[in-house]
Amino acid sequence: MPILLIVALGVFVWMLLTYRARQRTKNCRWREDRSRDTPEGRYFTCVSCGAETFSPDNMPPRVCLKPEGSER
Ligand SMILES: [Zn+2]
Repeated sequence: MPILLIVALGVFVWMLLTYRARQRTKNCRWREDRSRDTPEGRYFTCVSCGAETFSPDNMPPRVCLKPEGSER
């Protein structure tokens, strides 16, 4: 059973996925605005595309919430 091969493949797929995620959020710069916090979570706005969201875990989103079709 080539466990090492499976682990290597898993790492490769993981790197591919995180790379794509980084590409998608490359131009996204999330800023938190604590004055607009709600019980839903912390308010975040993207200074790059203007997307707004609330994060329950106080962490900025990992992807851009930019609407489809508005990319350059
Ligand atoms: Zn954005």
